[in-house]
Amino acid sequence: MKSAPFAVYQPKSLRDAVKLSATHGEDAKIIAGGQTLVPMLAMRIATPTILIDINDVKELSIIVEKDDCIEVGAAVSQAKLEDYLAHKNAHPLLATMMPWIAHRPIRNRGTVGGSIAHADPSAELVLALSILQGWVVLANAQKQRKVFAQEFFIGALQTDRQMDEILVQIVFPKLDKNAQYGFVEYGYRHGDFAVVSVALIKNDQEWTFAYGGINDTPQVFKENLATHQDALAFVAHLANTVNVREDPTASSDLRRHLMQSQSELLIKQIELAKE
Ligand SMILES: Cc1cc2nc3c(=O)[nH]c(=O)nc-3n(C[C@H](O)[C@H](O)[C@H](O)COP(=O)(O)OP(=O)(O)OC[C@H]3O[C@@H](n4cnc5c(N)ncnc54)[C@H](O)[C@@H]3O)c2cc1C
Repeated sequence: MKSAPFAVYQPKSLRDAVKLSATHGEDAKIIAGGQTLVPMLAMRIATPTILIDINDVKELSIIVEKDDCIEVGAAVSQAKLEDYLAHKNAHPLLATMMPWIAHRPIRNRGTVGGSIAHADPSAELVLALSILQGWVVLANAQKQRKVFAQEFFIGALQTDRQMDEILVQIVFPKLDKNAQYGFVEYGYRHGDFAVVSVALIKNDQEWTFAYGGINDTPQVFKENLATHQDALAFVAHLANTVNVREDPTASSDLRRHLMQSQSELLIKQIELAKE
């Protein structure tokens, strides 16, 4: 199939991009890396008459590292962030998660903002922003606003972004200096979206577990636990009690099993790293 006809605008500034978005409303769609949108156009799942290509907007293509967070422009490619994190050692948890996104050729074009705007329940960046309690900055022609991950991801492929808003920046808070962390995911093939993914941050006795793929949005659980045995008991309880989705790719029983076994693996890794 071929896509329906559309016109492409390539604004050079955020101001022009939000103006175009305000002018064309529902007829327009932002295109960033196109890794998701282009197949949707080809299959006519999306039929915008205008595409606003944000790849030439300089304000959206920069990474700014601060003492306590990393601010990433929405049009920064996933590969650029991956390389930045690998070289700067700025955010070990995020650096661990980046290579799990698809394959490198997809990360070369796929953007950080595209992944966050698309809000796939299994996307690694969506999980990272959720566990880190990060936030996004959105802009329309009148104003900018900041929305925390918990309020931004409202359902599978659904966010709080309004039709006239462009995602400008994604902010990932850094871990505390002494925090321990881990990430693991299970997929059917390397590069596939995860069936279940688990991220863990341990700050002293505070354990935060975040699960991707088990529901419409990442599920985050924070608990004070004195020992690793307590942590193992906690994840066993979680895996048996929380709502877990079922779909043609995996039963809820498989997802529960993966939640527990992957969490146990991370807990053991953290226990070993302390010794
Ligand atoms: C084969 C394959 C495997 C994949 N595997 C994984 C995986 O394992 N894990 C994973 O996380 N991802 C995976 N992806 C997704 C991919 O990594 C990208 O994150 C995804 O395609 C979206 O990024 P993009 O820049 O290509 O966005 P686009 O395709 O350009 O846009 C996606 C959507 O977001 C909107 N959008 C984009 N940028 C903005 C913005 N700044 N403001 C407002 N709206 C915006 C678009 O309008 C569109 O609706 C996979 C993709 C493919 C094709």
